[in-house]
Amino acid sequence: MAIEQRFGAGHRILVSGGAGFVPSHVVDALLARGCQVVAVDNFITGSRDNIAHLASEPRFTLVEADLTQGLPSDPALTERFDAILHMASPASPTDFAKLPTEILRVGSIGTLALLDRAVADSARFLMASTSEAYGDPEVHPQPESYWGNVNPIGIRSVYDEAKRFSEAATMGYHRFHGLDTAIVRIFNTYGPRMRPDDGRAIPTFISQALHGVPLTVQGTGAQTRSITYVDDLVRGILLLLDSTETGPINCGTEHELTMLELAELIVKLAGSSSPIQLVERAADDPEKRRPDLTLARTLLGYEPQVGPEEGLRRTIDFFAK
Ligand code: NAD
Ligand code: UDP
Repeated sequence: MAIEQRFGAGHRILVSGGAGFVPSHVVDALLARGCQVVAVDNFITGSRDNIAHLASEPRFTLVEADLTQGLPSDPALTERFDAILHMASPASPTDFAKLPTEILRVGSIGTLALLDRAVADSARFLMASTSEAYGDPEVHPQPESYWGNVNPIGIRSVYDEAKRFSEAATMGYHRFHGLDTAIVRIFNTYGPRMRPDDGRAIPTFISQALHGVPLTVQGTGAQTRSITYVDDLVRGILLLLDSTETGPINCGTEHELTMLELAELIVKLAGSSSPIQLVERAADDPEKRRPDLTLARTLLGYEPQVGPEEGLRRTIDFFAK
């Protein structure tokens, strides 16, 4: 199974949320292929540092705008796009309480605005969805055919349901307009450019380990996540973009760890003497999560390459700088 490159030199790609952690790595990968890339971002959770190295890159343009107001009139947005990657959304569970309406808007109004633009441009539309679409899953590992177990009024629902709405909207446009679409369900991804204070487990544990303070493991720490180094995710996203698959397709790894194991591993790799402190568990926190990667493997030839020790080491090095 080899997917031929479909997007490269001469293609114009719009990446929403392009100054964010994952999207900025996708921007880099598209630029490396020779694409012209326009990032639209309002910096609600993104950072100028993530794109600072592109300041003199002629094939990159940043449009500072809030997608929930629709796409602004800007010279960089006039010409047709060949592909649109909708990656804008706050994504940390701590944001679910702080930015509920912003999350709901970008996952609804923002999604519809970009779908309309994709129809107008006959562009391929790729939607960054999430393993959160499965909620607190009762099926393990999670195949794409599983409909999920989401509390529709819980603290996480603003994010989970916004992403599920985005998936529904994407499939609606695909069926009604014949739009060329793709949905990727992203599992916990980490790496350089995460914000140390974004509240997610990996950046939090690394910051705590590097500062010699206790690692705040929630509950008993027996809950699991399967962690993906960002380079593996970016490769999976570009394989899906290049393919003609609609998805949804899971992207992640089978490196499933308990949060206690994750904390202990980070302490070891950081050479830290931080203790582990058990703290209160967040509400509706999923008990376990691991992708069934059969579709990604068979349809895209996707295979993750970076193990947890290697990926966490690279991320610790980034945070230590
Ligand atoms: P991030 O917060 O670093 O990136 C999101 C970007 O979107 C930020 O730069 C932010 O400023 C921008 N943004 C948000 N609302 C916007 C708006 N209204 N208008 C313009 N820009 C806006 O988060 P991330 O972890 O890099 O996640 C990127 C995407 O991948 C998100 O859609 C997220 O839901 C999805 N995802 C990420 C993970 C993960 O583990 N990192 C897992 C599942 C899904
Ligand atoms: N977690 C933790 N301590 C923290 C932050 C998170 O123990 O400081 C746990 C959290 O309870 C969850 C897991 O780590 O079970 C993953 O949380 P994260 O916010 O990274 O991502 P999620 O998969 O919940 O979106």
